[in-house]
Amino acid sequence: MSPFRFSTSALDTVALQRQMRDESCGGFASFEGWVRNHNEGHAVTRLEYEAFAELAEKEGARIVEEARVKYGVTRAACVHRVGSLGLGDVAVWVGVSAAHRDEAFRACRFIIDEVKHRVPIWKKEHYVNGDSGWVNCERCAMPGAHTHEHEHGHHPHVHVPTPDYSRQIALREVGPEGQARLRSASVLVVGAGGLGVPVLQYLAGAGVGRLSIIDADRLEPSNLHRQTWYALSECGQEKSSLAATRVRALNPEVRVEAHALRLDAHNAERLCAGHDLILDCSDNFATKFLLNDLALRTGKPVMFASVYQYEGQLQLVRGDNASACLRCVWPEARDGLVGNCAEAGVLGPVPGVFGSLQALEALKLLLGLPGLKPDEMLIFDLITLSTQRLRARRQAECEAHRRAASSAPLLAPEELEVQFGSLADAASAGFVFVDVRDTREREAEPLPAGALHLPMSKLLTDAATLDLAGRYLLICATGKRSAAAAGLLRSQGFAECRSLRGGLKNLKASA
Ligand SMILES: [Zn+2]
Repeated sequence: MSPFRFSTSALDTVALQRQMRDESCGGFASFEGWVRNHNEGHAVTRLEYEAFAELAEKEGARIVEEARVKYGVTRAACVHRVGSLGLGDVAVWVGVSAAHRDEAFRACRFIIDEVKHRVPIWKKEHYVNGDSGWVNCERCAMPGAHTHEHEHGHHPHVHVPTPDYSRQIALREVGPEGQARLRSASVLVVGAGGLGVPVLQYLAGAGVGRLSIIDADRLEPSNLHRQTWYALSECGQEKSSLAATRVRALNPEVRVEAHALRLDAHNAERLCAGHDLILDCSDNFATKFLLNDLALRTGKPVMFASVYQYEGQLQLVRGDNASACLRCVWPEARDGLVGNCAEAGVLGPVPGVFGSLQALEALKLLLGLPGLKPDEMLIFDLITLSTQRLRARRQAECEAHRRAASSAPLLAPEELEVQFGSLADAASAGFVFVDVRDTREREAEPLPAGALHLPMSKLLTDAATLDLAGRYLLICATGKRSAAAAGLLRSQGFAECRSLRGGLKNLKASA
């Protein structure tokens, strides 16, 4: 039987149970939700269920599969009634077969709880006095949660307030169906910084059902002028979990997951699985190009935003072979060639504007509203307030498109980088140091004697002085410029050059 389905007719629970039999299973747990004769002080005579079937079935199947994987059970299924139900009718049935009873109980409980929270199903109650009302707030429908006062069909919440999307549902383009779409959507946000903060705020506020946050960094005081969701007293804490806590506080209906790690070629596919849309809120090309490759390989859309000083841009990569990708537009871009916020500076509202635009475009995309066209880039200069919409062209010789077509493995930018606990460790691993910092930085914090000096500005002209087969370790303050330089040198044939991951700053932190 299909893992989640709707039924317009009465449920035959004996037949359902028979379908769950499995000789390898020692335990079977089931749950039946019944129509009862009262709710919130009203005598109920019957009720009706309505669902947006396509969305609801997709989300329901996702829940049952999650339970199966999470608890390792053998079989799991859920059937929900729609249409008109009388008192005592079975409204929802969950069945789980497992090798052992504990898994069966827990998976059964998980499924019913998640179905109540995540599947877009509306309940209309009919009361003895002839009134009826839609009960859309599942917290209100939970037994014993609170007491309500009903007035003219409204039920003012006297308990803990629950999310209220009425201001956006009022839009003709959203409505209850749009809200259900948002609720069944799952979005991955890569980066919880200047772009990620407004993105997460608006997506959580809008009631996007599931948000996953990836950010490896800890909050620093210098972040706060643009990441104004956080508090000074929280510096030193992981941004991913700070952001998740705030999402929960803003909207407890959102299922949120925090991953305090850096997206790389090994974990990217796993972390992106199960999401409908990915938002790139990162500040480095390595992450952006990794997500770009992933979009092309999986066909999953990625919305990119980048800011530089007073300007920024937005581009949606749809991940198909016909439309432009990030590499089509920036074939040569690497980290370090263009500064990020730390190096180039930025006014706080600039990423705020672009993160807000990114959230807006994401909601429009999930709602099926017109937005950025395929192959379109929005460029916004916030000094002059001029906007441009440019046509990005699919380049026939695009390397990322070519790699995706040949289903080559994801690029592993980390192989270019290598981590050491100290410079002495690196030296004993046989590396010759190449300092890519400028003269002022070098004088302030010199490397050991024997290190070569090759500042970024002279990288291409002076690289000829290096040995093509040399085992070089490129070093800068934070590892970004050196990674870019190493990438460039690799492309020039220096096969053995590497970059010190995290730069000198990382050595100090681990010393
Ligand atoms: Zn491309």
